[in-house]
Amino acid sequence: LMFGKARTCNIVTVPEHEPLECNIVILGAMRSGKSALTVKFLTKRFISEYDPNLEDTYSSEEVVDQQPVLVKVMDTADQDGPVNCERYLNWANAFIIVYSIDNRNSFEACQQYLETVTLYSKGLQPEAPVILLGNKVDMERYRQVSKADGAALALRFGCLFFEVSACLDFLSVQHIFHQAIREVRRE
Ligand code: GDP
Ligand code: MG
Repeated sequence: LMFGKARTCNIVTVPEHEPLECNIVILGAMRSGKSALTVKFLTKRFISEYDPNLEDTYSSEEVVDQQPVLVKVMDTADQDGPVNCERYLNWANAFIIVYSIDNRNSFEACQQYLETVTLYSKGLQPEAPVILLGNKVDMERYRQVSKADGAALALRFGCLFFEVSACLDFLSVQHIFHQAIREVRRE
């Protein structure tokens, strides 16, 4: 006599791919356009005046390269550079560090964020992608930071670099967020 274990077959429906979640934090000096970029990405609209002290996290279901992803964007509003960074360092899968091409000080402020973020990210497995982003290219006439300076800073920290404008076309703003998601997927 053979006693076999009764074979039970439970039919469970497991989604083949849980939609990836991707947490993106937006950092940078005040008035560099962090909120304008975040709002543009989420609503396709440019909001010219946004509460400068409001920090919030927004969710959006996106499809990037035919794959769904739940994106969460933390639009920070720090006044003094990277302070109390724990709240986003532990949370973020990707970092976007913004300056305004018409404001040299906002560019200088990026260095501190890059140091903080890359130091932290290097210890992670996988590393979280970092994007340096020069905003307000529509203000070309008042440019204080050359594209070469932006690219050189990005190279120094081994991160991606883009220039954009929150008040021009939606697709180039969307492209930056989607690149961040692609980088996270690749890891
Ligand atoms: P945050 O403090 O980094 O969140 O900056 P905001 O998004 O509040 O933007 C600061 C100011 O810059 C506001 O007056 C915006 O209208 C303006 N601004 C933001 N993005 C752009 C842009 O791409 N071009 C121009 N010309 N102004 C922008
Ligand atoms: Mg803001």
